[in-house]
Amino acid sequence: SSKGDATGIKALDAGSVHKISSGQVVVDLQTAVKELVENSLDAGATNIEVRFKEYGLESFEVVDNGSGIPPEDYDSIALKHHTSKLSSFTDLESVATFGFRGEALSSLCALAESVSVTTATAAEAPAGSVIEFERTGKAKSKKGKAARQRGTTVTVSGLFKPLPVRRKELERNAKREFGKALTLLHAYALVPCAKENKGVRLSVTNQTSGGKKTVQLRTDGTPSTRASVSAIWGPKVLENLVELDLTFVVEVEAAVLRRLGKTQDDNESSNEVKVRGLISKFAVGCGRNGTDRQFCFVNGRPCSPSKVQKAFNEVYRSFNATQSPFIIADFILPTSSCDINVSPDKRTILLHSENNLVQALRTALEEKYAPSRATYDINASQ
Ligand code: ADP
Ligand code: MG
Repeated sequence: SSKGDATGIKALDAGSVHKISSGQVVVDLQTAVKELVENSLDAGATNIEVRFKEYGLESFEVVDNGSGIPPEDYDSIALKHHTSKLSSFTDLESVATFGFRGEALSSLCALAESVSVTTATAAEAPAGSVIEFERTGKAKSKKGKAARQRGTTVTVSGLFKPLPVRRKELERNAKREFGKALTLLHAYALVPCAKENKGVRLSVTNQTSGGKKTVQLRTDGTPSTRASVSAIWGPKVLENLVELDLTFVVEVEAAVLRRLGKTQDDNESSNEVKVRGLISKFAVGCGRNGTDRQFCFVNGRPCSPSKVQKAFNEVYRSFNATQSPFIIADFILPTSSCDINVSPDKRTILLHSENNLVQALRTALEEKYAPSRATYDINASQ
């Protein structure tokens, strides 16, 4: 199923549930917030506001202008394995939405003091409904009314309060956990650009108990990677980045071809990989340990492929021994060349023939940077 053709929230059949290696999708503050933002993107939102209270300890809320949820779906929103995005396992090969497990909202209900959803589709707006949930994910029968333009607001209060040990842990590391959530939101601020999609306006605020509200991040919705980088880190950062635009063919291993039921021949053109984004110039990286400025995507899905990141770092270090590169890299490859269904939080993406891909990437990067070494011209790194 693809974006926007939602046909109601339905239960996945038992076989599909088993195949979608289910597990904990919400393990910390950042995964909780990520799931809500992904739901907004899946709903086609072009404006997303993330509002933290007290670094997320008190609550966090994601407000979007997406499709909204139709009234007939209210009772199944937060039931385990209920999703409007995937109806059978065969869809999974080509899934275009971020979500497909129907687990995020049910997990949040179990893990937080309270979860509420305020939503309106175009048909209901400007009169929205407020739905609250039991710990089990069952919608409370009494639904409220609230003014709401088309879209959805999900509010999660008291994350981990039902689990005192995890709650203590979160309270102890509140600012660090908040920082991690913010870094992940940076990746989502870059997603639509990476996908060459329409722009999404993303804003993130935090209100402390003293009542002070600060803007943490704000993009203006221009669908360009450069514009987002400038909005997040400032225009000066752009001066030290160059276009990343690589194309190479990855030889698919025989074992993978057999598993996919293909031969090397009918795969010739389908194993081309494109890498699009921005990367540090040869001489000006972003410090020694700039890993909070390294963003990889596979077909627009944020992920952290460690071997790929290592390749970027090692090639860059061979040209500049003292710095790490700033990286924004979207790997555009056939959906049959990767598997997003490896870990519940979908951060781990299995790349078929990963070693060959990494080797081809190394070669392409070395070719890109080699002219800079020859001339020692930092601007020649294209
Ligand atoms: P999944 O995203 O895997 O389907 P979730 O638990 O995250 O599972 O969400 C359950 C369902 O609730 C979604 O399939 C979708 O129909 C609906 N939903 C959740 N958040 C939103 C939103 N912001 N806008 C529209 N629909 C939403
Ligand atoms: Mg989801």
